[in-house]
Amino acid sequence: MSKHTPEPWSTSTDPTLIFSEYEGRNLVTARARGPDEEKPHNAQRIVACVNALAGVEDPADFLRKVCANVVDAQRGTDRYEDRCPFCWADHGETHIDECVVHECEAYLKGRDS
Ligand SMILES: [Zn+2]
Repeated sequence: MSKHTPEPWSTSTDPTLIFSEYEGRNLVTARARGPDEEKPHNAQRIVACVNALAGVEDPADFLRKVCANVVDAQRGTDRYEDRCPFCWADHGETHIDECVVHECEAYLKGRDS
């Protein structure tokens, strides 16, 4: 992974700008792009993703492995025979949006498509 500006990153009074601290000063690291109404949300998402994976060398590889392990571990439990142990969805039901298994399955599916 290439060298990048250290975390934490943040937004500021201009919600489309992304900042990081460098030698005691806040510097603009990036500017969010997209439709005007989406720019602040794009900036918040970039900051959240970068900060959540601070210190992880290869975020995409890390997430793929974590999600694969979560799905495998959940399927390996006795409780999975009846319901998802995280959100109690029956097999064939949709996991609640906040279910970690749902998130992991969606992440893995998105990477494969
Ligand atoms: Zn679930």
